Amino acid sequence: MKMINETGPRLEELARQDVPVAAWCLACGHHAVLAVAGLCARMDGRTAVVAVARRMSCSACGSRAIETRPHYAGLGVVAGHRWHED
Ligand SMILES: [Zn+2]
Repeated sequence: MKMINETGPRLEELARQDVPVAAWCLACGHHAVLAVAGLCARMDGRTAVVAVARRMSCSACGSRAIETRPHYAGLGVVAGHRWHED
């Protein structure tokens, strides 16, 4: 497996903010919102969110053409407050 220096937020950052990961299948349009805690249990927390897609395949059609990104919309307007928890 190649090491790729991905940019953007990493799983551990989303876990701190309690932000889930949105994933879509580019082949069939299937999408899901994944709990970041579950992803951190399966892979390194330093994995970039956009790189998570490479470890997944579509549960609907089996395609590996997946895109993942932080699902910030789930936090709405209170996002800023979550930074100061704990
Ligand atoms: Zn699919």
